[in-house]
Amino acid sequence: MNVLVVNAGSSSLKYQLFDTATEKVLAKGNCERIGDGGLFTHKLPDNPDLNVKIEIDIPNHTEATKIVVKYLTDPVHGVVKSMDEIEAVGHRIVHGGAYLKESVLVNADVLEKLEGCRDLAPLHTAAHLMGIHGCLEVMPNTPQVVVMDTAFHSTMPAEAYTYPLPKKMCEKYHIRRYGFHGTSHRYVSGEMAKLLDKPVEETKIVTCHIGNGSSISAVKGGKVIDTSMGFTPLDGIMMGTRCGSIDPAIVPFIMEKENMTPAEVNNFMNKKCGFLGVTDELSSDCREIEEGYMKNDPICVDTFKLLAYQIKKFIGSYTAAMNGLDAVVFTAGIGENTPLIRALACENMEFYGIKLDAAKNDAAHHQGDSLEISAADSKVKVYVIPTNEELVIARDTEAIAKAL
Ligand code: ADP
Repeated sequence: MNVLVVNAGSSSLKYQLFDTATEKVLAKGNCERIGDGGLFTHKLPDNPDLNVKIEIDIPNHTEATKIVVKYLTDPVHGVVKSMDEIEAVGHRIVHGGAYLKESVLVNADVLEKLEGCRDLAPLHTAAHLMGIHGCLEVMPNTPQVVVMDTAFHSTMPAEAYTYPLPKKMCEKYHIRRYGFHGTSHRYVSGEMAKLLDKPVEETKIVTCHIGNGSSISAVKGGKVIDTSMGFTPLDGIMMGTRCGSIDPAIVPFIMEKENMTPAEVNNFMNKKCGFLGVTDELSSDCREIEEGYMKNDPICVDTFKLLAYQIKKFIGSYTAAMNGLDAVVFTAGIGENTPLIRALACENMEFYGIKLDAAKNDAAHHQGDSLEISAADSKVKVYVIPTNEELVIARDTEAIAKAL
């Protein structure tokens, strides 16, 4: 089945067209700067000579969808003959709130539930809805499916998702740990479970999705029992520009000292902290910090140590939560490409049964394959597994569309 996977942001619409029989990407691209000019890229993995990169007016998400369909069906740059050959569309949704706990076909009820998520993730939800409405308008007869980043975490027990705030307030405002990057944690934990020599029900895996945004999950028996991101994607470990968990009392303290409004402090914690803040605005990009680390720049050395220490603490606490550990997985931009962070996070973990093979770790870069980086005598397997959130979305979409 040909499934179009759509990831709509406020000013962008990324897409990939999958042939689910072979799980191959036939074409992929991005509509950027929607509502502010417009830049369109279209790539054909099997035919890069026919790739497209053009500046084109893209006033809204409906027009973006029209451009995507036009190029996918184009006689020269296209990969299908007509729109009918795009058999289903799968949408990535960041926040499914308390309502959407598994992938589902879009209908009026689902659209209403998504509207209900606006309060929890206003920017993301608004963008997703524009993407869905755009596709519904352009492809009214094609089944549309939503796949939520929060869904895989919905199995967490109450002790993992509850914040110690007044119960009534949590209920009134739906305040709880939701967790994010669920599609990624689901994919890499599933791949890891296949590599372990035991039934999935008995597996205990910590998945470390370390990218510009980062989260760590404890996946026991194939189900999430805890995850580091929380009510929003700001919780957990330090990220590119996000601070992660801090003493909550720091928030009103800064607001008072710096005369910030709630919106300003929220923006500050999301955009000015993490790597960017800790390195004194040197960079939010791990690669630049790695360069500094190699030159022994003390700020960069301290930043890497801080990140690695936070990862290490989550691995330790999730091992306690699962009463054991079979495997640790590193994935996403930093997890897949920065051996130094993996080495620092896993150093001095022999007590937990974790021992890396330095040469294998150094050699493991994003290659599309799952690569073991643990030493032969490590009790716990450590792997680098490139994530593939789009493939999970395509698989779920196919399963739902086929059942119609
Ligand atoms: P996002 O959360 O935006 O999806 P990514 O998972 O793409 O982020 O991760 C981006 C981070 O990964 C950046 O800090 C970047 O420096 C780091 N990184 C390191 N090496 C690479 C690489 N070869 N390709 C992409 N990102 C890399």
